[in-house]
Amino acid sequence: MTALVETLELSKYFDIGRKQRVHAVDNISLTIAEKEIVGLVGESGSGKSTFGKTVIGLHAKTSGEVKFRGEILPQAYRPADFQRLASKMQMIFQDPYSSLNPRMTIGEIIAEGLRLHSTLKGTQVKSRVEEWLVRVGLHAGHMSRYPHEFSGGQRQRIGIARALILEPEFVVCDEPISALDVSVQAQVINLLSELKETLGLTLLFIAHDLSMVRYVSDRMAVMYLGSLVEVGKADEVYFDPKHPYTEILIGSNPEPDPELERSRPSTAIQGEIPSPVNVPAGCRFANRCPKVMDVCRVETPQLIPLQDAERQVACHLY
Ligand code: SF4
Repeated sequence: MTALVETLELSKYFDIGRKQRVHAVDNISLTIAEKEIVGLVGESGSGKSTFGKTVIGLHAKTSGEVKFRGEILPQAYRPADFQRLASKMQMIFQDPYSSLNPRMTIGEIIAEGLRLHSTLKGTQVKSRVEEWLVRVGLHAGHMSRYPHEFSGGQRQRIGIARALILEPEFVVCDEPISALDVSVQAQVINLLSELKETLGLTLLFIAHDLSMVRYVSDRMAVMYLGSLVEVGKADEVYFDPKHPYTEILIGSNPEPDPELERSRPSTAIQGEIPSPVNVPAGCRFANRCPKVMDVCRVETPQLIPLQDAERQVACHLY
């Protein structure tokens, strides 16, 4: 297994005045192998998107490192770094409408990356855009239309074409289906899976729908209040969660297969996620955990491997 992307104790904090800091991402070490899909799950506000954006350099790192093929990437990107890394790492955004400039045609939007980061010109750019429109299931003739002329699912296809036209090796998909109708979600997931196979992509797939993440991912990483609490093979984490938070998260996520849904215990997560400005001492999940012990309130559990080294859990129960 060759590592393509590695984060080493990566943290991202935001200063919000009066010496207060939002601990959006705290000390995350995660390795993503070549051609692997790692699903990143957690409630809203757990820091998933910030982690994805920090990995590909859209946010400067507060501390820690990101490596791409063993190369340590800069702490904060300069324009030259974006230029060099754009053809290696890209992002597909959650909201396909707000991420597309309404004043640009679809052809201009998809071509933008090529114009900025490749040596292709004029008709070469045009034919590459036409090729990608077809590749994502649209028509070459759509080039001169504007984003508002397309449905949500079509707009996400445009977002995918824009991200993949430079044929990057690594793509962060930030909740790419959460703004879409259920009927369209499967089409977009199938398109991404197909492109992953044909292009040999490596993906960090951020989502809150755990059954969808299990379906598309090789491994699953569970994030809570800026930290990783569990990592493992997607099926193993989904069907045999070890961390109490993962267990509750999976129990509260509707399972599309009615037979599986009936066989699973139903649980609901209690209480509120603490503020990332005042991160509690000890285990961050302690105030909501049904299995909390005295030690949990004073000692921070570390992410440690279980018997199978691929399975890691941060909980004093292990
Ligand atoms: Fe619950 Fe303690 Fe494990 Fe945290 S460390 S998840 S509070 S049992």
